[in-house]
Amino acid sequence: MKKVLEVNHLKKYYHTKKEEILSLKDISFCVYEGEILSIVGPSGCGKSTILSILCNLIPLSDGAIYQDKNYKIAYMLQEDSLLPYLTVLENCFIGLKIENHLTEQNKEYVLSLLDLYGLSDFQNKYPNQLSGGMRQRVALIRTLAVKPDILLLDEAMSALDYQSKLKIEEDIYNIIKKEGKTAILVTHDIEEAISMSDRVIVLTNRPSSIKNIYPIELQEKNGPIKNRSDLNFSKYFNIIWGDFNEKI
Ligand code: ADP
Ligand code: MG
Repeated sequence: MKKVLEVNHLKKYYHTKKEEILSLKDISFCVYEGEILSIVGPSGCGKSTILSILCNLIPLSDGAIYQDKNYKIAYMLQEDSLLPYLTVLENCFIGLKIENHLTEQNKEYVLSLLDLYGLSDFQNKYPNQLSGGMRQRVALIRTLAVKPDILLLDEAMSALDYQSKLKIEEDIYNIIKKEGKTAILVTHDIEEAISMSDRVIVLTNRPSSIKNIYPIELQEKNGPIKNRSDLNFSKYFNIIWGDFNEKI
């Protein structure tokens, strides 16, 4: 398998006026092409910090990141962060506009994604006219519009009610696999991580290091809803739940 990203001994301090906070103590992992890798850990342990460093929003304090420069990274934030005064279509075009790549061909690509994922009829609506799940799908299409190879998803589903969450997990899983993307998914939801991923990284409390990395082997991988009833699912759940509750 081809490695597209490697993180070596990453360390991160935040500096406030009063103190220095060690957020990441020692984080090392790699990401393989085509996989969905989840990072789980307790709230405040540094999950978002890792993603923000990976896409250069904030600097690292120590360690190194090796990234294949042919692979383009895109970040989808926790809140859908759609602009309320733009239509669905205009929101989806934003990344392309910023990159100065709003060509006819790319517009067609966005329209085809909207069509494929059931949003064509809503392209001229505004975000507040859509359900939470639909807004997340629009945010995902906006992220896909710039044709990234690696998607970073930060708690993308966590603000939704359970039913919408399962549906959007299924959609996002299918979109990532169908479009042949690689993804790093950050979540505090153990079930979401196991049911969506090829591997799950469990972090310790802050200052975080890696507690365990689990390859997820199910009888059959059929998408996050069906995967939840796989015989091995509860085995992984119990192990990771144990990791969460062990005092470190
Ligand atoms: P998570 O996404 O796992 O909930 P974060 O990466 O957002 O955690 O934050 C990890 C820790 O780093 C938090 O406990 C917080 O105290 C600290 N932190 C995050 N952002 C900042 C910041 N801008 N300034 C100071 N401390 C921060
Ligand atoms: Mg976070």
